[in-house]
Amino acid sequence: MKSIRDADLNGKTVLLRVDYNVPLSDEGEIENNMRIISTLPTIKYILEHNAKVILCSHLGRPKGTPQKKFSLAHVAEILSAYLKEEVVFADDDEVVSEKTKKLVEQFKASDKKVMLLQNTRFRPEEEKNDPNFSKDLASLADIFVLDAFGAAHRSHSSTVGVAEFIPAYGGFLIEKEVKFLKETTNDPKRPYTVILGGSKVSDKIDLIKCLMCKADKLIVGGAMALTFLNAKGINTGASKVEKDKLGLARDLINSVADKNVELFLPVDIAGSTEFSDEIPKKIYDVEHIPSDVMGLDIGPKTCLMYSEAIKDSATIVMNGPMGVFEMSQYADGTKAVLQAMSESEAVTVVGGGDSAAAAIKFGFNDKMSHISTGGGASLELLEGKTLPGIAILM
Ligand code: ADP
Ligand code: MG
Repeated sequence: MKSIRDADLNGKTVLLRVDYNVPLSDEGEIENNMRIISTLPTIKYILEHNAKVILCSHLGRPKGTPQKKFSLAHVAEILSAYLKEEVVFADDDEVVSEKTKKLVEQFKASDKKVMLLQNTRFRPEEEKNDPNFSKDLASLADIFVLDAFGAAHRSHSSTVGVAEFIPAYGGFLIEKEVKFLKETTNDPKRPYTVILGGSKVSDKIDLIKCLMCKADKLIVGGAMALTFLNAKGINTGASKVEKDKLGLARDLINSVADKNVELFLPVDIAGSTEFSDEIPKKIYDVEHIPSDVMGLDIGPKTCLMYSEAIKDSATIVMNGPMGVFEMSQYADGTKAVLQAMSESEAVTVVGGGDSAAAAIKFGFNDKMSHISTGGGASLELLEGKTLPGIAILM
């Protein structure tokens, strides 16, 4: 992979595609700054090598129309505070209009070093990878650096298209993500344990199939586990179960027998008759889930069993929470596996948007080898797919 380390930056202007698609609350507040912080090493490296940087990113899904709530103006302020450096914000609904081209000329002639463009998805061309928009973006700089791991699985103008017009290199975040999600898991130190959870089996079929041949232990939680339990003939009450995936789940369970993988499913659950944090939860063994109860987390016996299974691993990947961790009553399972991961000697990787959010929320930021900044991108990389954004750097 062509790295930013290979580029001659002296006196150049770098177009740096980052992933500032930060999580926003319903009120439009930025919920955590992890994606901003994780771009600082690449930005600082560029500045230390006597180059200027023009950053670009998407935020949310404005679908090609400018919307104030998806403006990157606030991100520019936060970035400026972290860098202790002025960040010139090009507030431009067209992202790269004549106005911005002029602003870039002034920026290049000034002693300012950092600029941020407006949300690339304000332009309908972005998601179509339209070369006209790619060309406009490329015209602003000498070199392109891709560090937007969270968007590297998308072939868009600002992630892939620009590389047609100026030389492209990978930034330090991309490098780190590839190291942990690809290299570590392609040839894992064993035992290799994967903790899988989240809301759906259907999102992660390719990953499960790929892991069946690779992992030593497959630990399953979340709503996904309830689909597996149901497929085994267990009455899962009112739990979220993917009826159309029961056959597939059954096939996967049966295929474990002729693979070297050990499959772990919950022995108890925490649940309730309502999807709410208000009613106190109850614990049930999986054989005795009442018909009106839905499983919303793994139970305490399962937490112990899973923690024990995680302990002696050499490589651990977590993708998907064990329960509805957004509700405090149903966060115990997710906390327990994160705790066991953090206490192990293993290389520990957290992938998946919600899993990463949980790891940050519960204070495991500095206790893992790597927490991925990409949701869909980390899933695709774990599945062994080639991401278009990585392909342009090869
Ligand atoms: P990730 O983004 O880490 O890959 P997913 O998107 O697959 O994870 O799933 C995360 C979601 O799964 C969370 O919002 C969580 O509330 C939900 N979830 C976990 N367990 C259950 C459950 N038992 N029932 C319903 N939803 C669940
Ligand atoms: Mg998710």
